[in-house]
Amino acid sequence: MYDANHLIRQLRESSLEREEAVFARLPNGGTVTSGALFAGAERMAAALAALGVQPGDRVAVQVQKTIQAIELYLGTVMAGGVFLPLNTAYTGSEVAYFVGDATPRAVVCDPARLEEISAISGEAEVLTLDAAGQGTLRDLADGQPGFEPVSRQADDLAAILYTSGTTGRSKGAMLSHDNLASNSLTLRDYWRFTKDDVLIHALPIFHTHGLFVATNVALFAGAQTVFLPGFDADAILETMPTATAMMGVPTFYTRLLADERLTRDRAANMRLFISGSAPLLVDTHEQWEGRTGHRILERYGMTETNMSTSNPYDGERRAGTVGFPLPGVEARVMKDSAEVPAGEIGALEVRGPNVFQGYWQMPEKTAEELQPDGWFITGDMAKIGADGYVTIVGREKDLIITGGFNVYPKEVESLIDDLPGVLESAVIGVPHPDFGEAVVAVVVLEGAGTSAEAVKAALSGQLAKFKQPKEIILLDALPRNTMGKVQKKALREAYAGLFD
Ligand code: AMP
Repeated sequence: MYDANHLIRQLRESSLEREEAVFARLPNGGTVTSGALFAGAERMAAALAALGVQPGDRVAVQVQKTIQAIELYLGTVMAGGVFLPLNTAYTGSEVAYFVGDATPRAVVCDPARLEEISAISGEAEVLTLDAAGQGTLRDLADGQPGFEPVSRQADDLAAILYTSGTTGRSKGAMLSHDNLASNSLTLRDYWRFTKDDVLIHALPIFHTHGLFVATNVALFAGAQTVFLPGFDADAILETMPTATAMMGVPTFYTRLLADERLTRDRAANMRLFISGSAPLLVDTHEQWEGRTGHRILERYGMTETNMSTSNPYDGERRAGTVGFPLPGVEARVMKDSAEVPAGEIGALEVRGPNVFQGYWQMPEKTAEELQPDGWFITGDMAKIGADGYVTIVGREKDLIITGGFNVYPKEVESLIDDLPGVLESAVIGVPHPDFGEAVVAVVVLEGAGTSAEAVKAALSGQLAKFKQPKEIILLDALPRNTMGKVQKKALREAYAGLFD
C-alpha cells in the first residue's frame, strides 16, 4: 500500500508502525493521530477523484489553516494532483489571475467567499472548507471509503506555489515529488528531528516554510506538532515547556522577545529554534541567546528551491549568516559569468535535487533563471566566506545604483541598526534627477530614540559619501508581509516622488 506514490510513500513510512502516535495537538485540546491524518487524507483523495481530478490536475486552495487543509494537501498528492495553495489574504481579482493561469480542476475556498470565488473559477468545481475544517469538501470526503494512492514518480509535479511576485506577474514554481521529499529528508537529518520531537507549528500553510519545511519534516520524523492556526504569543509561550523545537520567521522571535514571559526556564525543554524566510537581525539573535540560552539556527531558502543553506546543528551558528549549503546542494556566487573570490559579493546560484522544475507555462522566464546545467539564479546577492559560511546581502532588485555606484542596502542597514535608539531600518533606492537613484533610509526607533540628523552624522564617518542616505525617514514600523519580509517595493512606491 502507498508504494507507488513517491512522496506519499515516504511521508507515510515514519508512521506506518505507529498509527496511534499523535501528529498534531490542537488548540482545543484535541489530538490527531498519524493514522487519522492519513485516513482523512485518503478520504480527501477519494473526494477529489470523485470530482474528476486526474493525475496532473491542479487543485487550488485558499483556506484557513486546519488539519483538514493538511489532509487536503496530502489527499491531492495521493490523487496524483498538484496542490496549489493560495495566501488567504489574496483578493478575488488576485485569485482570478491564479485560477486563470493554473486552470485547476477544483478550487477550495472559505464558505464566506463561495460566491465571489465561484464567479471567477470558470469550469472548475468549487468547494468549501472553513476554519473549523467543515464545508462541502468535508461533507463529500466524509462519505468516501479509503483510497489507494495514484502512482507518481520522483519527477512528477506535487505542487505549484506562486512566488510573491514583487516585480511583474506572479510565477508558479513547479515542485516535483522528489524536490519535496529529498529536501525534507535532508532537513530532518541535518536538524536531527526524531519521533521524540514536539514542533511548534505556527506558520501559515500556503507558503513553503509552513507547508513543506515544517509539515513535511515533522511527518518524515514521525514527530508531534503543536498545530496553531497562526502566530499567538500566549499559545506559544504556554506550550513551550512541553515542546522541543520551533520554526519561525524573524518576527516570531522579535514578538516573543517583547514578552517578559519568555525566560530561560520556559525554554528549558526546547532543543532547537529555527528562523528563515527573511533576514534575522544579529541583535535579535543575541537577545534571544541572552534570554533563553539558545542560539537560533538560521537557514535560507525560497519557493523555487526549498531550503538551500543552513547553519550547522553542532558547529557555530553564526549570526547574520545562513550557514552552509545543505548536503547534496551546491552554491556559488557569480559575477560576469565567473565565480567571484571568497568573500566577494555577487549573484547567488544553487543547484541540487531541491531546485524546482521551472515556472508554470513560462518557458522564457524559466530559461532566464534555470540554466541548462541545473544552476538556478536565485535573484539574491550573497557572499561566501573562505570558511564556507554564506551571507545573504539582499535581493538583486533591491540593489541601489546611485551615480553609477552600487550600494548594497544591507551594508547601510547593518550600520544604522547598530546605532543606539534604532530598532531596525530598510534602505531603498529612490529616483533622483542627478544620481539616477538616491539612497534613502527608512528607520524605526526604539527606547529613547534618536534623530534623523544623529543617524546621518553617525554614518558620515563610516560610509563612503555615495553610500550615505540622502534622506532619513522615521516610521513607527516597516511594512511587512505575512512571512515577515520587509516590503521594499511598497516603500519605494511610497517615496518615489521624494526628489521630484
Ligand atoms: P519566498 O520564496 O517567499 O520563500 O522568499 C524567498 C526569499 O526570501 C529569498 O530569495 C531571500 O531573499 C529571502 N530569504 C529567505 N530566507 C532568508 C534568510 N535566512 N536571510 C535572508 N533572506 C532570506
